[in-house]
Amino acid sequence: MNRASFLAALALFVSPLIAPEAFAAEAPVSEGDRWWKHIEILSSDALEGRDTGSKGYETAAGYVSKELAALGVKPVLKTGFLQPIALQSRRLVEAKSSVALVRGGQTLPLVQGEDVMLSARQGDSGTVDAPLVFVGYGLSIPEKGHDDFAGLDLKGKVVVMLQGGPASIPGPIKSHFSSWTERMKVLRSAGAVGYVYLQNSKLLELPWERMVAASRNPTVLFTETSLNDSRGMKVAVVASVASSQKWFEGAAHSYEELVALANADQPLPKFDLPARLKAKLVIESRPLKSMNVVGVMPGSDPVLAKEYVVLSAHLDHVGIGDPVKGDRIYNGAMDNASGVAALLEVARALREQPQKPKRSVLFTLVTGEEKGLIGSKYFASRPPVPLTSMVADFNLDMFMPHWPFTAVVAHGKDESTLLAPLSEVAAKQGVRVLADPEPDRNLFVRSDQYSFIREGVPALSFKFGYTPGSEEQKVFKQWLAERYHAPSDDVSQPVDREGAARFIAFLTAMTRTVADAPERPRWNDDSFFRRFAKPVTAPSKVPASPAAKP
Ligand SMILES: [Zn+2]
Repeated sequence: MNRASFLAALALFVSPLIAPEAFAAEAPVSEGDRWWKHIEILSSDALEGRDTGSKGYETAAGYVSKELAALGVKPVLKTGFLQPIALQSRRLVEAKSSVALVRGGQTLPLVQGEDVMLSARQGDSGTVDAPLVFVGYGLSIPEKGHDDFAGLDLKGKVVVMLQGGPASIPGPIKSHFSSWTERMKVLRSAGAVGYVYLQNSKLLELPWERMVAASRNPTVLFTETSLNDSRGMKVAVVASVASSQKWFEGAAHSYEELVALANADQPLPKFDLPARLKAKLVIESRPLKSMNVVGVMPGSDPVLAKEYVVLSAHLDHVGIGDPVKGDRIYNGAMDNASGVAALLEVARALREQPQKPKRSVLFTLVTGEEKGLIGSKYFASRPPVPLTSMVADFNLDMFMPHWPFTAVVAHGKDESTLLAPLSEVAAKQGVRVLADPEPDRNLFVRSDQYSFIREGVPALSFKFGYTPGSEEQKVFKQWLAERYHAPSDDVSQPVDREGAARFIAFLTAMTRTVADAPERPRWNDDSFFRRFAKPVTAPSKVPASPAAKP
């Protein structure tokens, strides 16, 4: 969007001097156009890519608050629509930091950005000198009888682990225990001081150069250190595939051998490496402020209104970065202005219905998703209403409105009783419910819905559906390659506004159906995620289940 039209749009929400009627003649009429208008504003160059802690993000939060207020959504926090979060931004000073292998009295320096990436997420300024031990995948999954750390003494050591996990362990379980939050718990309690993460080229999602570029962006952590559950090591290193053998010179097994074993799903050996890791870290940190935007549309039923259907989407993106074709602003139109815009339009649609939903609807636009689900984690740790009163979370993150909306993928549909309203609404609207076309990517645990899932709230995350091998999949793959986390995720891309409008109607009906149902959703008995469920009492009933706890 150019500057002039942005300013016109901006005036709609920031200038008290211009009467809204002045724009009435130009006001968009169709649902799809209204949705697109929000995207034009949120992903305009003036908002500079809505980086967590930036002015542009703050402007976006102000815009969303005003829009929600205009749609009859009320603040639920003492602080109004905004939930402020104290953060710190950490950056590794690469020129002053170093990492090397020490073997037989010889020091072999490793080149940052080429051999390794040093993380600013773990550790503080200082030095580390520790022995190295290879621990397979570095996974401890007691319920599946898999423990890569069994019998190993890790105290004061740096563990070296290979990306991946045993094929026999189901995806959601592997993803959960592979999360840094879970890994850190185990490593901390074993007394490890750091880790080296080796990649398997078969499992890579991004080329090394792009990972390095991303790693040079500052890391964002909570100021309140107890909230930083994925911290606790003195040093963390990711090694490039090309240089991974360097770690194994003189060892019992080579990198190539270990990858071959992993790819054949054979057990991995555990062994000490004949080397030490020597690292020097210089980390700069500065305070940062950001905020979630939260509001409630109160329910119409005096009893059920005390329960909430949560609609969530992340408002942040990655800000300003390396220029691509002369453009430095990473606008984040589909990631995730589109999701925020859709929730605003769901609010409008709910408001326009003659009868309000019975349960309340909690609109939650979060910050810091791109920094590691920061905003949603904070929301879950400081919930404005009790977590047990949240009956479901519907999350939008890149729902990909690039083709007509005739099919939906709902991540998590096989995990809870939300499948019933999903099937019902989809059938009514002539939308097919498709299986996850890429179950190996475990997208259900990779966006903000996971912060709710971990608190026991049944969740779904929605995308425009496609089947493997379809034309739509090609469009999506091409989008990922060309526009994902790139400056070209902007308003110049083609989208299907009519499809977006149909999707908004679908999500409105989903929200309505779950908000009005006499019983609240619950996790299926055989769902991995049921472990997070909390006992719920009044006001509404939980569906009967033979295995449910009393
Ligand atoms: Zn993103």
